[in-house]
Amino acid sequence: MNSNILLVEDEPGLVLTLSDRLRSEGYNVDALHEGTHVLDRATRNRFGLIILDVMLPGKGGFEVLQELRQRGFTTPILMLTARTQMTDKVKGLKIGADDYLTKPFEMPELLARVEALLRRGSRAGHDGPDFYDCGPLHIDMRKSEVTRDGSPAPLSTKEFQLLRYLLENRGRTISREELLKEVWGYSAAPSTRTVDVHVAWLRQKLEADAKQPKYILTVHGQGYKFAS
Ligand code: CA
Repeated sequence: MNSNILLVEDEPGLVLTLSDRLRSEGYNVDALHEGTHVLDRATRNRFGLIILDVMLPGKGGFEVLQELRQRGFTTPILMLTARTQMTDKVKGLKIGADDYLTKPFEMPELLARVEALLRRGSRAGHDGPDFYDCGPLHIDMRKSEVTRDGSPAPLSTKEFQLLRYLLENRGRTISREELLKEVWGYSAAPSTRTVDVHVAWLRQKLEADAKQPKYILTVHGQGYKFAS
């Protein structure tokens, strides 16, 4: 089970209370105080659950929720609100929230919802986005399919696994050794040349100009990264 929780809440007291309690229950908690960076954080890390306040400064909870769902994230989302209006609840559920809790709430109630959502999420195996859109590329993580400008770009299983790992770690430089270990499962690397060859094949299939890649970048002396 993915026990990483992203808590998006702007009331410092509530953030403190919730984080402490969730951590004491064994969850890892990452907190954001406003909605602006949620998409970015959710792209970089895999969360088992997002607890999302509706009333946030900057980008509001509904907007964030809609954005996440439009980008293909199926991570369970528990909405929090101080408002008791039924319309808010209906709106949230309609645009893709999984559950809803009205403030003030009792901690045991929150914990019960958190546990239920995490269990549901782990059964479904959803903790990353279902697809990525990068310029002309549409990468469907469920079907393991890629299209470029709408045309299929057939990848071998290994190529797709490599692409998946790069995407899941988007923006981070990954060494050839790490790629060999995580994608090929070699603990002692036979040759990092294997990685280079597969990266070259991926570029030929996905990049407009394989010699000047826009997405699968070389970080000299360090490894590769998928452009963020
Ligand atoms: Ca708030």
